[in-house]
Amino acid sequence: MAVTNFEKEMRKLESEGKITRAQFLQIMAAVSAVVALGTDKAYAAKSGAKGKIVIIGGGAAGISMAAQLKRKLSNPDITIIDPSDRQYYQPGFTLIGGGVYGADDVWKPQADCMPSGVKWIKDKVTLVHPTLNKVDTAKSGSINYDFLVVAPGVKYDWSRIEGITYATIGAGNAHTIYDHRGAQMTWKAMKEFSEKGGKGVFCDTWTKHKCGGAPKKISLLTWDNCRKNDILDNIDLHYYTASKQLYNVPHFTPRLEEIYRERNIPVDVNCRLKGIDTEAKRAHFERVETDAEGNKTTTPFTESYDFMHFMVPQCAPDFVRESGLSWTEGSLAADGWVMVDKHSLIHTTYSNILSLGDCAGIPTSKTSAAVRKQLPIAVDNLIALMEGRTPEAHYDGYAACPIVTDYGHVLMCEFDYDKKEQITFPLSLLDMSKEQWVAWLLKVYALKPIYFNLMLKGLY
Ligand SMILES: Cc1cc2nc3c(=O)[nH]c(=O)nc-3n(C[C@H](O)[C@H](O)[C@H](O)COP(=O)(O)OP(=O)(O)OC[C@H]3O[C@@H](n4cnc5c(N)ncnc54)[C@H](O)[C@@H]3O)c2cc1C
Repeated sequence: MAVTNFEKEMRKLESEGKITRAQFLQIMAAVSAVVALGTDKAYAAKSGAKGKIVIIGGGAAGISMAAQLKRKLSNPDITIIDPSDRQYYQPGFTLIGGGVYGADDVWKPQADCMPSGVKWIKDKVTLVHPTLNKVDTAKSGSINYDFLVVAPGVKYDWSRIEGITYATIGAGNAHTIYDHRGAQMTWKAMKEFSEKGGKGVFCDTWTKHKCGGAPKKISLLTWDNCRKNDILDNIDLHYYTASKQLYNVPHFTPRLEEIYRERNIPVDVNCRLKGIDTEAKRAHFERVETDAEGNKTTTPFTESYDFMHFMVPQCAPDFVRESGLSWTEGSLAADGWVMVDKHSLIHTTYSNILSLGDCAGIPTSKTSAAVRKQLPIAVDNLIALMEGRTPEAHYDGYAACPIVTDYGHVLMCEFDYDKKEQITFPLSLLDMSKEQWVAWLLKVYALKPIYFNLMLKGLY
């Protein structure tokens, strides 16, 4: 059924002339092979393990986890708690921001995405009592569990940027695609900027954040729109990253840096956005440098802009830390990420709790591509725990980030915990250290239907 839907979407693209017959066949062959593998797993002997599983969060991780568990357990007892009416395909926000997708291309009603037979409590978790095996919700009282999956994604911490709030996104032409409405406003502003020109300022943030590639994509698409409008002489684009370098996966970094050089977009490192004066259109940064002895110096500076794209600092939702589920030491402690073992995804204190997705305190890149690889690990290890076996499945940190470099190319970065490239077949047949057109096809036409029709159904 899910594959049929996927095929329908591909046929529609073919009939609209967006992909050729040959591309249609290639995409279908690749997807069919993947689904066949998934189906094999799905029809392997089911486990009769029993226990009430509660999943906090029905996003990419929560719903896909429930769907895979349903395929693997003969008597699943699964409850998802999530307050949202909509299931968003968030990687599509970048393409809304770049004018490739429309606002309604990226979401479906949450009710349509819930796997059948899974109980959905449309509510927010406010606290977990890990020693009592129960969670409190805002309106639905307390819910008991035998096993808990923590997958509520990230919280955007607006309090850490002065001068702009969620409600004022877009004020002073300062935009962010890390929100559905913000993505729509970004496209309008990018289009206007690409007609007039001026100074464009783009930045990321200093906390761990989802899809680190997204702000880069917006800066590169802005440049490409200006190129199409032949106004490159009238623009001055700058990229500020809070990191030590533009990108830290050696296989892909040289080409990405080269692209910024070729396009005359200077990249400043170690720069943290601290505030935006939206009236004056000035962005306030701090340059944080550390010397060989570990001493830090912080130098504030201000940059004026005509068009700005920024990212909000991110952390785990408050209830995670308040429930004592967060790391208490190390680099993942500051923002409250869930304290799980980076290979097993099992909580290091509470062995009946797992976490995956953006909220998990693991040193990987927060992407739905990473979620896709975490899923079978979390599912196998949860079933092992339910059966009283030792959990043995091992996540290697795989994540992927398709960095859209222009309208037609994507630098598809796939890598593991060691920042070693891990390129998926058949992309491995190409030189993926460079941007590729086929990766653009994948990003624009295939990944969204794969998300809704396969991943959320537990087939991928
Ligand atoms: C602009 C942008 C671009 C991106 N680009 C890419 C990309 O190109 N490739 C890629 O692979 N990934 C990309 N991502 C990242 C990807 O979308 C996330 O990594 C993925 O959605 C993480 O899944 P998750 O389930 O952990 O979190 P989410 O999908 O965010 O889901 C979290 C769910 O938890 C619910 N929730 C929150 N708090 C509570 C609570 N207290 N109680 C109950 N439920 C709660 C929310 O309602 C939500 O439904 C992008 C993200 C953004 C924003």
